[in-house]
Amino acid sequence: MPLHQSDAIILKTYPLGEADRIVAFFTRDRGKVRGVANGARKMKNRFGASLEPLAHSRIEYFEKENRDLVRIQSVELLDSPMKLFQDYDRAVCAAQMIDLVDRFLPEHEPQDAVFRLVRVTVQALEQGCSIEFASCYFEVWMLRLAGVFPDLFTCSSCATTLDTGVERFLAAGLQKTLCVSCNTGTNVTLHADVPPILYWILRNKLESASAVDALGEFGRGMKNLHELNQYWIRHYSER
Ligand SMILES: [Zn+2]
Repeated sequence: MPLHQSDAIILKTYPLGEADRIVAFFTRDRGKVRGVANGARKMKNRFGASLEPLAHSRIEYFEKENRDLVRIQSVELLDSPMKLFQDYDRAVCAAQMIDLVDRFLPEHEPQDAVFRLVRVTVQALEQGCSIEFASCYFEVWMLRLAGVFPDLFTCSSCATTLDTGVERFLAAGLQKTLCVSCNTGTNVTLHADVPPILYWILRNKLESASAVDALGEFGRGMKNLHELNQYWIRHYSER
């Protein structure tokens, strides 16, 4: 039984019998893993806050051959997300993040970019970044890293590059972008504020969001982009 040590983000825990818990955690080097933490349900247990959702923890675990669940040996808390869960709106946003990571990531597949995205978003939320913007940023990147974010800067019909200021449409199903010339039939007009926000998100770090006053001007576009993200998330989770 080899012992592994991984930096991980805790996703969820479930009760197992009277005393134990199953822990779903996202490791930096080995992707999503599930394991048993013996005694974690007891009032006084050796895990403390290190198994709270979104905690950044260092986990030592044994892998057993032909078993899905690993055995968690020890957990050391590196960074507590407690501040996030003191505020209702931030807690909801955090729960949605966990849900997305859990839904989009296959087991045992390392995804360093997603790992960094989660850490950066948690930190931005703790430092007072707008919840609406942080969740929009997280959703766009999560969908993009999963390879399912549609290209809103190229016409899917004639391949023309569409600048941020140009009018564009989304074809039925909201997966394909069309330019003005290719827009025939019943397509949805994309809100003019969505492309500039998306352009910013794809080219900047979330940490610098608070420094950009211009983002506040795109309130309506942010709402639209968030709604589109939600639509794409539903669409791809139901496949
Ligand atoms: Zn076109």
